[in-house]
Amino acid sequence: MTKPYGGSADGLTARQRRQRRIGKRSGYSKFKPLLVQMQEGLCGLCGRRLPEDMSRVEVDHIVRVRDGGTSAIDNLQAVHRSCNQRKG
Ligand SMILES: [Zn+2]
Repeated sequence: MTKPYGGSADGLTARQRRQRRIGKRSGYSKFKPLLVQMQEGLCGLCGRRLPEDMSRVEVDHIVRVRDGGTSAIDNLQAVHRSCNQRKG
């Protein structure tokens, strides 16, 4: 018996691509204030004080998603934008 194939493999990819685009904009920024609070206002990479302006703070994955890291808050840290870029 062959399994019925929906033939929607391409449609699924398109949907995932759209979701990723939305996620990039709203994404983890909601965790920013909480992460900053948990880290007592210090950058997770350099340990210096983070700016109060949240638009200059970025959320970094401690373990990269491609290395098996999750997008749960315990795998995220607030960092300087410059530190995040240096890390790559
Ligand atoms: Zn930093």
